[in-house]
Amino acid sequence: MATTSAAPGTGKLTKLEVRNPSTNELLATLPVHKAEDVNAAVVRARRAFEVWAALSFGERRAHLLDYRREIVRRMDDFLNIVQRENGKPKNDVASELLLVTSHLTHAANRAEHVFRSRRVSSGMLPTFRSTVSYHPLGVIGVIGPWNYPLFTPMGSIAYALAAGNAVVFKPSEYTPLSGKLLVECAQAAIPVPDLVQLITGYGETGSALARAKVDKLAFTGSPATGRRVMAAAAENLTPVLMELGGKDAMIVAADADVKRAASAAVFGAFTNSGQACISIERVYVADSVYQPFVDEVVALARSIRVGTGEDAHYGAMTMEKQIDIVREHLKDALDKGAKALIGGLDSIKGRFIDPVVLVDVTPDMKVMSEETFGPILPIARVSTGDEAVRLANEGKYGLGSSVFAKKDGQRLAAAVRSGMTSINSVIAFAGIPALPFGGVGDSGFGRIHGDEGMREFARIKATAEEMMPMPGFSLSFGDPGKSLEQTRSVLKRVYGGSMLDDVRGAFGRIFRR
Ligand code: NAD
Repeated sequence: MATTSAAPGTGKLTKLEVRNPSTNELLATLPVHKAEDVNAAVVRARRAFEVWAALSFGERRAHLLDYRREIVRRMDDFLNIVQRENGKPKNDVASELLLVTSHLTHAANRAEHVFRSRRVSSGMLPTFRSTVSYHPLGVIGVIGPWNYPLFTPMGSIAYALAAGNAVVFKPSEYTPLSGKLLVECAQAAIPVPDLVQLITGYGETGSALARAKVDKLAFTGSPATGRRVMAAAAENLTPVLMELGGKDAMIVAADADVKRAASAAVFGAFTNSGQACISIERVYVADSVYQPFVDEVVALARSIRVGTGEDAHYGAMTMEKQIDIVREHLKDALDKGAKALIGGLDSIKGRFIDPVVLVDVTPDMKVMSEETFGPILPIARVSTGDEAVRLANEGKYGLGSSVFAKKDGQRLAAAVRSGMTSINSVIAFAGIPALPFGGVGDSGFGRIHGDEGMREFARIKATAEEMMPMPGFSLSFGDPGKSLEQTRSVLKRVYGGSMLDDVRGAFGRIFRR
């Protein structure tokens, strides 16, 4: 992470000092790129794009798989650098690498299928051949956060590259070395200079990228920054993809496997010290299983080890200012009557926070409504799964969610207003590359991963080709009066009665292929 006395984003800093959050050791000093550097990178990327886009899917696939192999070859560098700069244990970094490589593999292998042109029905113009085709956009700007400094940007980078685009990537000022390593691997493996470039800096550098006339901007970060990024991108009408914060709820129904649910809640809430956009930030438990669930959570949470060693379950808080937010949320909850079964304000020990389990929580507490991004697990008692859904849907966020239920899992999951839900699991959707990833509300819009995520990085072209003249369909002005009568008649006959669906269905079947 970067520590400086001036707050990131002041625009006064010319160097980025990267420090170890566990020890404050200075790890490296990197440049703060200015708008002209960013613009120049985008110009270079555009040249690289021409080369990359001209390759076949098969050629791009081979290069992307080389990229994957290079990441694996440098695995130890990743383990060391991410641990030192982010503060998470190496075991967590290794899991992140597994996600990164699985997404790269999926994107590389899937692109040709996803971007195959498709014939579609020509509707009222059956003598036409209608086609949807997909083309690369050009240069994609990727702005990333620090909490999963490999997995998060790769969710955009892999799919953007597989779709035939070039990438200019700005990692978080707290984890630029992880981003640098990702880019170095791409540059070593893919013989297209400037196809993937790194720019480093604070908010201003990101803002310059949002204004740099890229063809799309994939942003991952907080909703507050997301709003600023959208405003900057609006200057050039640059399309944006927003992967923002979350307040993921877990619902534990009366028939849930309580032990499994408790274990998943503890893992989902405390992994990466709760610094995950899809961490479990609140739990709603059906009355009949509430006490056994809470007892199990408490027993498991007591065994969590926090620290820097190889045996630690989670490590330091990466960003100092996040600790103040965690403290504020915790204090607010305790002041309003929440009870800490494990930990409390004294769990905050410098850059490390021990697990906190809260009960007697209410919706008015910040810990139940705002993103805490720390190792706090608040548990609320509800009468039914449906009440849990109602409470889960009250917030402004809608990223992920989790449902534990034997019978009703699918129904409850469908009722939760979130982009993703794990049933009888947590966070699992992030590890399945074919599933689209993204949220609703303050959690953002657009998708990464999966076919939907891949198509975010394509220009969609609609083509209508006349195969033979279409009776009654004239491209000349002709006689407006006669044309008016003909159109009126068609409207009445086709859309004014019940015949429409029959006609459309018949034409569709005949002319679709
Ligand atoms: P942040 O919003 O502070 O910063 C994200 C990135 O934006 C950084 O690279 C930063 O330098 C850059 N930035 C800051 N100001 C900018 C500006 N004005 N214009 C352009 N770029 C600017 O977020 P963070 O603290 O790095 O990350 C934590 C947040 O990210 C949490 O809210 C978390 O939930 C969210 N997150 C979401 C996902 C997801 O996929 N939905 C994944 C991980 C993290």
